[in-house]
Amino acid sequence: VCPTGALVENEQINEVLAQLANPNKTVIVQVAPAVRAALGEAFGMEPGTLVTGKMAAALRRLGFNYVFDTDFAADVTIMEEGSELIDRITKVMSGDESVKLPLLTSCCPAWVNFYETQFGDMLDYPSTAKSPQQIFGAIAKSYFAEKIEVPREKMTVVSIMPCLAKKYEADRPEFEKDVDIALSTRELAALIKQANIDFNSLPEEDFDNPLGESTGAAVIFGTTGGVIEAAVRTAYEKITGENLEKVEFESLRGFDGVRKATVKVGDLELNIGIAHGLGNARKLMEELKAGNPNNFHAIEVMACPGGCVGGGGQPYHGGNIEVVQKRRDALFAEDAGKPVRKSHENQAVLQMYEDYFGHPMSHKAHELLHTHYAKKDRI
Ligand code: SF4
Repeated sequence: VCPTGALVENEQINEVLAQLANPNKTVIVQVAPAVRAALGEAFGMEPGTLVTGKMAAALRRLGFNYVFDTDFAADVTIMEEGSELIDRITKVMSGDESVKLPLLTSCCPAWVNFYETQFGDMLDYPSTAKSPQQIFGAIAKSYFAEKIEVPREKMTVVSIMPCLAKKYEADRPEFEKDVDIALSTRELAALIKQANIDFNSLPEEDFDNPLGESTGAAVIFGTTGGVIEAAVRTAYEKITGENLEKVEFESLRGFDGVRKATVKVGDLELNIGIAHGLGNARKLMEELKAGNPNNFHAIEVMACPGGCVGGGGQPYHGGNIEVVQKRRDALFAEDAGKPVRKSHENQAVLQMYEDYFGHPMSHKAHELLHTHYAKKDRI
């Protein structure tokens, strides 16, 4: 067994190369939000350098048929998870005991594993929405496959993730290989170097459409507090019917391991918990087990310190939290520069609902975009 895991990395890189070389396959790539804030470090750039455009250009030169963005799926996650949150709040407030609050986010597979093994008697709490990686895979192999008239078995979906747990997630049997291969940011850097692409001289290019269109809300999924901030941007407008002028929720941002905030949404005081690092998540879960003393409506958990920007598949940062914070700041900058910053205003997502899913939490959406959890003794 290779002690560094390098052989597994090589194996998966070779698998991607084989798919790219196969003329019978349509090979699609998606890239998670946090990757663009760290990939440049593998090419000598300063931490926090955004390389979104160069990354899209590199993927195109590697030969992917479609270069898409996991951010599209992050916007879909908010459509589904945000609707679920509003639905649960409405039901609980009307005395319906069939659902539970708080809603726990479910984007991070290491956190999903953690609660399935450590809190297996509390599986009513996590959102049933799949993670953005898996939502993307499901959409690519259904809606998009039909659109371009390619059967699912002739399609290969590769994801580039800041994360090693995403490899395990892609292999979970219930996801039926919607995502075929998950590479880490470091593996993508190795692939680009192996192909002799001069990354630093590449032009800035855009993602392809329609699964490359995204909002600022999706970009901040890559940092702690970002998923819940994105959800609140949408929930605010859906609940109050008012336009949200200032989309930044400073009270949800920060780097403390456990954060608690109350956000005013019309007459509702939305109580939110945020934890990054599983030790911190355990503290919130123990409180919840003891009876939800903070009256939380939603809790976001990310297993890695700082969220995905600090993920285990990113270029090594040697425990230097400043590097992680610079990556986080890069994502906030990308969000601030986006023309659309609320997930429910993503026109490509809205078009997809109109053409294919109907509406969030529809029967078809449940079938393709939601999942279930099981109590487990071990991973
Ligand atoms: Fe993966 Fe870490 Fe992000 Fe969780 S927080 S999805 S483990 S990179």
